[in-house]
Amino acid sequence: MSDLSYKVIVGLEIHVQLATRTKMFCGCALSFGEEANSRVCPVCLGMPGSLPVMNKQAVEYAMLAALALHCEVASFTKWDRKSYYYPDLPKNYQISQYDLPLGSGGYIEIPLEGGRTKRIRLIRAHLEEDAGKNLHTAGSFSQVDLNRAGTPLLEIVTEPDMNSAAEVRALAVELQRIVRYLGVSEADMQKGHMRFEPNINLLIERAGLQFRTPIVEVKNLNSFRALERSVAYETQRQLDVFLETGITMQMGNKSTRGWNDADETTVLQREKEEAHDYRYFPDPDLVPVTTTPEWLDEIRSRLCELPVARQMRYVGEYGLSDYDAGVLTAERATAEFFEQTVVAGADPKRVCNLLTQAGLKLANERGCDMSALGIAPAAVANLAQMADAGTVSATAASTILQAMTETGKAPELLAEEMNLVQTSDAGELERIVDQVLAENVQAVEDVVSGGKKSKKARGFLLGQVIQKTKGQANPKVVSEILDRKLS
Ligand code: ZN
Ligand code: MN
Repeated sequence: MSDLSYKVIVGLEIHVQLATRTKMFCGCALSFGEEANSRVCPVCLGMPGSLPVMNKQAVEYAMLAALALHCEVASFTKWDRKSYYYPDLPKNYQISQYDLPLGSGGYIEIPLEGGRTKRIRLIRAHLEEDAGKNLHTAGSFSQVDLNRAGTPLLEIVTEPDMNSAAEVRALAVELQRIVRYLGVSEADMQKGHMRFEPNINLLIERAGLQFRTPIVEVKNLNSFRALERSVAYETQRQLDVFLETGITMQMGNKSTRGWNDADETTVLQREKEEAHDYRYFPDPDLVPVTTTPEWLDEIRSRLCELPVARQMRYVGEYGLSDYDAGVLTAERATAEFFEQTVVAGADPKRVCNLLTQAGLKLANERGCDMSALGIAPAAVANLAQMADAGTVSATAASTILQAMTETGKAPELLAEEMNLVQTSDAGELERIVDQVLAENVQAVEDVVSGGKKSKKARGFLLGQVIQKTKGQANPKVVSEILDRKLS
């Protein structure tokens, strides 16, 4: 057993709901949590004789996402019917894209620790419509809500390039950041805007031989946590089954499993991969889409710097930690606010601290983003400069930032009004230091003797000075004076 090693191999299929105002092929509004079957019309109800009309916004969002994911965007793409029977699919087919997807190839860079990235290759990205929802909460019968039927989805399929649960999660988080940056999806997990289906198996090496465990597809995961946990669970489960039974991958032993959120396990759904016959064929009701170079250029002009590139730049250019750079680039509004503040002449690390320790907390409390806090980047830059110059302490700067959002006043004014200006006047501070030293002979002796108590005594003296100035002494200046007097 000691010569056994293994690695997990994961590919992902992801459905992302696009943030259009209306559905993919009809004018019904997309809104969440409405009364069942209140956002439907003959088209999305699949009534005979009704005709679908393509939503241009959905096509453009998909093009924009495909470009950001480095896909090749097809110059000619079409719509296909994927036939299957299910109560939440009244037409008995889903409009999707089969052999000519809008996007092919491409990749997503995921951030790893230490400022490194890993490239996960994509197979395709295509547009399709969502089905409705079956509800099984009514007792002895089931209900169907078709409000979701016809919602535009971007389906993204990756190559099996991920080798840990953490990498799978990183990819999902990165995709969420990308579609939010682009504004093509709200990517709200609670509303089911992103759904994941990982394909998982293991490559095992034992005694110089290689084995592959059968592939398991886990269906319909709608949180990062469930996604990560299901991959970790399957890794262990497949290893255990291999060690017990020696079963390896053959044709036809791929299975489908569901995720049980309560006990965090996967449950077998279908043992054998059926040879699905979806009878794909081009939808005769819809015209193909030709993406002209001009149209593609126009969409390309809406691209922005991607979050992972920004994150790496913040580490390299500004010397921020991976963690801080990740926090600042999590949302586009935060990243842009940060950069505008830096451009206004503030030190990046100082701004980073102000935003991560105070600004984002306020935005979070108020349920808005940085740009909606009512403060200008230039004013925050002034505040950062005041903190750098020692005019106010770091703690006071956070307090002032909050007051700025509440009053709209300038930081200089607020520092005065709130009595937060630090005293850096060496002459005045020296007088206070002398007074404190005279009042605390024992502590002075402890420091000078350099014994065990020296450090603590010095801290005590510094604290006394700060206290005498009601917290307004600049600790750096006081510290210098103390060092000089006590050496
Ligand atoms: Zn409709
Ligand atoms: Mn799909």
